[in-house]
Amino acid sequence: MVFVLDRHKKPLMPCTPKRARLLLARGRAVVHRVKPFVIRLRDRCAQDSVLQESVLKIDPGSRITGMTVVRGEQTPEGEVHHALFFSEVQHRGESVHRGKQTQRNARRRRRSANLRHRAPRFDNRVVPKGWLPPSVCSRVGNILTWTRRYGRWVPISRIEVERVRFDNQLLENPEIQGVEYQQGERAGWEVRAYLLLKYEYRCTYCGKTDGPFEIDHIRPRSRGGSNRISNLALTCHICNTAKGNQTAHEFGHPEVEATARRPLKDAASVNAARFALVEALRRFGVPVGTWTGGRTRWNRARFGIEKTHAKDALCVGEIAGVKLGRLKTLRIKATGRGEHCRTNWTAEGFPRGYKMRQKQVRGFKTGDVVRAEVSGPLKTAGIHRGRVAVRASGSFRVGKVDGINARYCVLVQRADGYEYEWA
Ligand SMILES: [Zn+2]
Repeated sequence: MVFVLDRHKKPLMPCTPKRARLLLARGRAVVHRVKPFVIRLRDRCAQDSVLQESVLKIDPGSRITGMTVVRGEQTPEGEVHHALFFSEVQHRGESVHRGKQTQRNARRRRRSANLRHRAPRFDNRVVPKGWLPPSVCSRVGNILTWTRRYGRWVPISRIEVERVRFDNQLLENPEIQGVEYQQGERAGWEVRAYLLLKYEYRCTYCGKTDGPFEIDHIRPRSRGGSNRISNLALTCHICNTAKGNQTAHEFGHPEVEATARRPLKDAASVNAARFALVEALRRFGVPVGTWTGGRTRWNRARFGIEKTHAKDALCVGEIAGVKLGRLKTLRIKATGRGEHCRTNWTAEGFPRGYKMRQKQVRGFKTGDVVRAEVSGPLKTAGIHRGRVAVRASGSFRVGKVDGINARYCVLVQRADGYEYEWA
């Protein structure tokens, strides 16, 4: 779908690419932005238009976050969500982490190279409240950036986010009775999400990592074992069958029985970044609904949807059904906006050469999307389009082609910290 703005840049409902082409051809609209494609109508105001309910749905992940925009429709069975736009944001937590490592190496060298007296420092390492590690902070920042952007292009009336992978409280207090998840259809999904994380997607007994996994009672039901979460383990089918009516101890795994009662200890830290995210999302001023990963999996299985990050996001929330449509997924890769550090370092932490001071060269900077039409008897002759990497000499790399002169380049879109690709 194509995002549509009114003449005052206020968001309207997205339209099909075909309709966008017609609007552009008739001169009723202009191109506002290339990727993702946004057009602006010249003769329409948001006040005079009918806007439907649009929901932004988020499935945060450590490497990739699914972000899907849907149109909600009320039916007698409940709310049905029609997908309008699928996207996946690829985070750069790893590269932030590597950058911090490089910074550390450089500092270490400076400390040992310069042995003048420094006053001892001991109590200046206070972590402010709400602090997140830089790599996690960057992930939360990416999601907030895209929430803000979608908010500019679609009239978002609600945000649905998967806040936790499983409902902690529900699992820790299995005595709570009468809750629908306790005996209901959803119970298994919540338990499974918890166990997958606790046993790191691995058979507790043989360590096999490829599923499908089954849920095993460490002390069997028939021998007085309970259904409590602490008595459950993740196993492959072979081990589960072989174990049969034995306890884990009898099966030759006393360590499993010893550790079984230990709760998932990093459950809180797994969820910390997501809680910070939800808090930040609330500041956008639209209602934020939260959901659990176990229930997302349940929805996905119920509707028979394949697993991708964008479609996982679609399955977040209390819904009666989903309509996929024939939409592609926009892969959004966080690239950052260059570095503060101007020195190149060797692996040992010694300086080796310097980067350019200025970012712009002849009006372009690294990361801009350009179109270059090279004519004449040159090796690079042809039409090239893509991200540009600038050099002070004016000889740029466009996409994968090196040595294109700046004078052939025409700007398509300014660098905005992300790279885009349709999948
Ligand atoms: Zn096994």
